[in-house]
Amino acid sequence: MSLLSQQLTDISGVGASLAQKLSKLDILTVKDILYHFPFRYQDFSVISPIADVREGDTATVFGLIEKVSVRRTWKRKMWLVEITITDETGSLRAVWFNQKYLAAVFKEGMGINLAGTILTDGKKMYLSNPVYEIISKSLEHTRHTGRIVPVYPETRGITSKAIRLVLSKIIDRLDEVDEFLPETIIQKYNLPHLAHAFRSIHFPSSLEDADHALNRFAFQDLFLLQLLKTSHKYEQKKHRAHAIKQDKTYTKKLIENIPFSLTEAQTKTLEEIFNDLSNPHPTSRLLQGDVGSGKTVVAALAALLVAHRGYQSVFMAPTEVLAWQHYRAFSSLFGTLDHGVALLTSSQSRLTFGDNLETTLSKKELLEKIKSGSVSIIIGTQSVIQKNVSFKDAALVIIDEQHRFGVRQRATLSDTMHGAFPHLLSMSATPIPRTLALTVFGDLELSVIDELPKNRKKIITKIVTPSQRQHAYRFVDEQIDAGRQCFVICPRIEPPDPEQPLTPRQKTMLEVRSVTEEYEKLSKHIFPSRQVAMLHGRLKAKEKTAIMERFKNKEFDILVSTSVVEVGVDIPNASIMLIEGSEFFGLAQLYQFRGRVGRGEHQSYCFLFTDSRSALTKERLNALITAKNGFELAEIDLRLRGPGQFLGHEQTGIPDLAMKSLQNPNLVTNARKEAILLLEKNPSLEEHPYLATYLQLFGQQIHEE
Ligand code: ADP
Ligand code: MG
Repeated sequence: MSLLSQQLTDISGVGASLAQKLSKLDILTVKDILYHFPFRYQDFSVISPIADVREGDTATVFGLIEKVSVRRTWKRKMWLVEITITDETGSLRAVWFNQKYLAAVFKEGMGINLAGTILTDGKKMYLSNPVYEIISKSLEHTRHTGRIVPVYPETRGITSKAIRLVLSKIIDRLDEVDEFLPETIIQKYNLPHLAHAFRSIHFPSSLEDADHALNRFAFQDLFLLQLLKTSHKYEQKKHRAHAIKQDKTYTKKLIENIPFSLTEAQTKTLEEIFNDLSNPHPTSRLLQGDVGSGKTVVAALAALLVAHRGYQSVFMAPTEVLAWQHYRAFSSLFGTLDHGVALLTSSQSRLTFGDNLETTLSKKELLEKIKSGSVSIIIGTQSVIQKNVSFKDAALVIIDEQHRFGVRQRATLSDTMHGAFPHLLSMSATPIPRTLALTVFGDLELSVIDELPKNRKKIITKIVTPSQRQHAYRFVDEQIDAGRQCFVICPRIEPPDPEQPLTPRQKTMLEVRSVTEEYEKLSKHIFPSRQVAMLHGRLKAKEKTAIMERFKNKEFDILVSTSVVEVGVDIPNASIMLIEGSEFFGLAQLYQFRGRVGRGEHQSYCFLFTDSRSALTKERLNALITAKNGFELAEIDLRLRGPGQFLGHEQTGIPDLAMKSLQNPNLVTNARKEAILLLEKNPSLEEHPYLATYLQLFGQQIHEE
C-alpha cells in the first residue's frame, strides 16, 4: 500500500490514543496529516537575552523558572497560570489562560524556552500563552522552539507538539511519495516536488523554504480546481438542451413597452443570453452587475422569450421579499402579460395572467398548473426546487443573487429538471474580483453590466462620527419633509468572544434586540412625529413582505432593519441609507446596502455611522467613497480582508489555501491556462493516470464538505 493511504494507527510510534484524538480532526491517514498544514510559523531561530526584547517582538527567550502561581481571574472566571523566568540579563513573566494543568508541569528551577509575541500591560512586558519547551540543561537539539516552528490548527487535546511528533515519524519515508503533477508544469513554474514540498511545509529550513512549498500547494489546488471546472464544462456540452430561437420582433415589442430604454450594457448582455439560449447544448452564464444596474429586466426578457417559444423558466431568489418583488416587476415592466407568471414560496402562491394582476389559488392548484405547463414563468424562493414541484418543460433557470445560495442548492436546481438540461443564468450584484470569478465560476461564461441607467445620480456617501450624529438626524428629518424615505441598518452582531462564536439563533436574538432598541429610540425620541417600522429576521416571511409593501407604498418614513434588506429590494423613493456600526460590515455588504438608495430620480445619501477610530476602519470606509465602481471596491476588500470575507467556504466549496492564493492573480491565471491546455490535449487524462486519480479524490473532497 502506498504511504499516503496508510492509516496512522499503522505507523510505528503513533499510539492508539493519539490516533483516536487525531481522528476527531478527521485525520486518519498519512495523507490527511501531511495535508494538515501549519497555519503559521514562528521564527524562533534566534534566542534573545531578556533585556533585549521589546513590545511587539516575536521572540524566543531562555531562562530558569523562578516562580509559579495559579489563580482564578475574578472577571472572566478563567484559570490563570503565571510564571516568571530569569536569565543573566533580566526577568520576564508569562501567563497561560485555561490551562490549569500547566501549574503542575512547571517547577521552580527548571530551564525553559518560551516563544511568542511580547506584550505589555502598560508598564511591564510579558508573554501570553507562549509556546514553551522545558529544557533540562543545554539548549541544543530543541524540537519545538529555537528555530522555525510550525503552528497547527488545534482542537482540544491535540497540540501542535503532538502533530509534529506524528509527522516526525513519517517525514523520513517521504521519498516513497509520487509526484502527480505533470513534470513539464513542475519545471516550467519551478515548483518543488510533492515529497519535498511536504517536508518543507512541516519542517522548513527557512521561511522562504516554507513559502516555496506553500506556493506549490496553492498552485496544485488551483490547478485541480480548474481541471474540475473545465472538464465539467466539457461534460455539460455533451447533453442536449432546448434551443430557443430568438424572435427579434417579439422582443422589440416588449422592449418598446418598458417605461425606460435599456442601457447599452443591458442590450449587449441580452444578446449574449439570447445567444446562449439558441444553443442546443446547456449553457451556463454568470451575469454580474452593480446593484441597480437593471439585471431583473434582462432576465425577465429572456424568460419571456422562452415562454413565447413554448417553454418554462424558473426564477429563484434568495428571499421572499425579493421573489415577490421580481414577481411584481413583470407586470410593472410589461403591463399586460401574454404568459402566466407565478409566485411560489413557502407561504405564498400567486398567479398573474394577461392584465389580471392577481388570481388567488391554492398551492395545490398552482403546482398542477406548473406541471401541466399552463404557467410559463415560475418565480420563487428555494420552494421552487422542492421535490413536490414538477415542471412540464423548463428550458431556462435563473438564479438571482446566486452567491446567497450554497453549492448544493445550485446543484439541486439542475437535478430537479428531470433529465432535461436547462440553460442556466446566474446573477450577482456582488462584484467579484476577476481571479475569484475565474476560480469559483471557472465553468461559467461571464457577462458584466458595467453601466448604470442614465437617470442615476451619484450617491453622496459620508462617514459620520458620534459628534455629527445629531446633524445627520436633522438632515434625515428634512429629507422626510421633502417626501423621501430612509433606511436605518443596525450593526451586525459580533460575538463578544471570538473563540466562542454565537449560534445563529443567539445571533438573531441579539440582532432583533438591537433593531428593537433602535426602533424604540428613533420612534419615541428622535423622530416622534414620523412613521417608523422595523424589519428583522425573526418576522415571518409574510410579515416581512407586508412591511416592505407598505414601505414601498410610503406608509412609513423610516425603516429600521437588520441586513435582511441587503439584497435587491427596490424602493425608488428612499433617498437615505443610514448604517449604524458600519465598521462591522464588509465593504461588499456596505456597498449592497448603499445600492438600496439612489434608485429613483432623487439625490441620495449614505451615512456610515461609526464610533471606531481605527485607521484600518477609516481606510476601509473611505474606499466606499473613493472607489469608482463595485469591482474596484471588491479588489480593495480582497486586499484588506482576504477572500474568505467575500465568499465563504460554504458557498464556494473551495479549499482555504486556494482561497488565500486568489490574492495572487498570476497563480490563478497560470493554473487556469495549464488546466485548459492539458485537457485540450488529453481530455480524459489517460496519459496522466495518477493525476486523474488525484483529481477524482480532490473532487469528492470538495463536494463532501
Ligand atoms: P439589480 O441589477 O440590482 O437587480 P434591478 O433590476 O432591481 O437592479 O433594477 C433597479 C431599478 O432600475 C428597477 O426599478 C428597474 O426597473 C430600473 N431600471 C432597470 N433598467 C433601467 C434602465 N435602463 N433605465 C432606467 N431604469 C432602469
Ligand atoms: Mg436584483
